[in-house]
Amino acid sequence: MSSKSDFDVDLFVIGGGSGGVRAARIAAGYGASVMVAEEYRFGGTCVIRGCVPKKLMVYASHVSREIDDARGFGWTIPTATFDWPTFIAAKDKEIARLEGIYTTNVEKPGAKTAKARAVFEDPHTLKLSNGETVRAKNILIATGGTPSHGPDIPGIEHVISSNEVFHLPEMPKRIVIQGGGYIALEFACIFAGLGSAVTVVYRGDNILRGFDEDVRAHVRKEMEKQGITILTGCTVKAVDKNRHDFCAHLSDGASISADQVLFAIGRHANTKGLGLEKAGVHFKHSDGSILVNEFSQTNVPHIYAVGDVTNRVNLTPVAIREGHAFADTVFGGKTVKVDHSNIPTAVFTQPEVGTVGMTEQEARAKFSHVDIYKTDFRGIKSTISGSDSRVLMKLIVDGSTDVVVGCHLVGPEAAELIQILGICIKLKATKADFDATVAVHPSAAEELVTMRTPTARYVREAAE
Ligand SMILES: Cc1cc2nc3c(=O)[nH]c(=O)nc-3n(C[C@H](O)[C@H](O)[C@H](O)COP(=O)(O)OP(=O)(O)OC[C@H]3O[C@@H](n4cnc5c(N)ncnc54)[C@H](O)[C@@H]3O)c2cc1C
Repeated sequence: MSSKSDFDVDLFVIGGGSGGVRAARIAAGYGASVMVAEEYRFGGTCVIRGCVPKKLMVYASHVSREIDDARGFGWTIPTATFDWPTFIAAKDKEIARLEGIYTTNVEKPGAKTAKARAVFEDPHTLKLSNGETVRAKNILIATGGTPSHGPDIPGIEHVISSNEVFHLPEMPKRIVIQGGGYIALEFACIFAGLGSAVTVVYRGDNILRGFDEDVRAHVRKEMEKQGITILTGCTVKAVDKNRHDFCAHLSDGASISADQVLFAIGRHANTKGLGLEKAGVHFKHSDGSILVNEFSQTNVPHIYAVGDVTNRVNLTPVAIREGHAFADTVFGGKTVKVDHSNIPTAVFTQPEVGTVGMTEQEARAKFSHVDIYKTDFRGIKSTISGSDSRVLMKLIVDGSTDVVVGCHLVGPEAAELIQILGICIKLKATKADFDATVAVHPSAAEELVTMRTPTARYVREAAE
């Protein structure tokens, strides 16, 4: 058995993204000697090529809609123009600033950083691409995920992923986006707002698989109103490169010319070439992600994994929580489990989606009595702006206990609202608690506390 002196560090973290940085910082704060290796840029997917640059693009895109609305309110705005290189430079500057902050956050409590790729040599030894070899008592795998391109279709080399979309030299005037999940749809709305002609291609019957059916239908309708073409039940089966553009050939026989073809059809765990077989770490056979228990521990007791590489709930705040809980448990003397239930999430389409808890379909499968409260309306701003955008709000209630078990919103600020509604759902608020709350007027959110009559009620008879 190894003694402590056999090790260079108490903890080696592979990956300087959301989960890895949090774990390293907290573990170092508890007095552990920590080293973190990052092969690309500290901050990881979220900061460098995910949530943050994407949200900045959403803001850039949204301006065109604000300008349209402003005209209805009496503003005269000369023809506005958008300069892609100016925006990209501003975005890159901000991302570089955040990258610096992430690096400092790791180093301040005393953790060492290495800008290098790390792979396992054996269960305790990591080989770094800068030539170093490090022996670690504990190892945290926080290598995240990477875009999947799907089957190897002809011309796949012409297709970009979300990794490249943040660095295009020019804004595509026409873009084909394959995928029906949140990343594909967010980029569809971003480019539509910036003035591109956007076609979404998705193999399923409707976008946003896994979301409440009303949300799926509402978002699709809203995106189509903005001129986004959504083609379901088909796939891109080949991409040709012409002199000045590309041509996407679809499985239904259609062809679409575009300046870029983006695939956002899913992501997979970043485990390739990591040497996990040398460490003896088990995978989930279904998807190649790392198998862990409720404490993020793998089958090898001193090796843990957090974040997207475990493919539990692939969101930044979840990776952060898992990293924090790991550090508390292993170095802080507190046993902390992460609760993966009722996680509020947003989709930054335009309009936004905010959702927490069960969908109607899930609730009806679980409970014998389900009450649905649903409203679909034009917000007060739209009356004068002339926008034909509609808001959807839906509460799912367990009819036996009156507890609100799901809440689904599509409309302005849905992401902000769902954060607060997430607290209500966590606290198991009842519909009576919602009703007892006085409305804020005039607001869209007041609908959440003024929907009095169920729009649907489902009662399942007990089996004989
Ligand atoms: C376009 C896009 C938009 C998104 N938007 C949102 C959003 O709005 N909200 C949200 O909550 N989530 C969003 N996500 C998901 C979110 O980014 C991830 O869930 C989160 O980043 C996961 O954190 P992580 O620590 O598991 O991995 P990551 O943040 O991916 O970090 C892993 C790091 O490990 C490094 N690495 C990999 N292998 C090695 C190795 N062998 N050696 C050294 N370093 C290595 C990688 O370079 C990377 O920096 C988005 C993702 C994408 C792609």
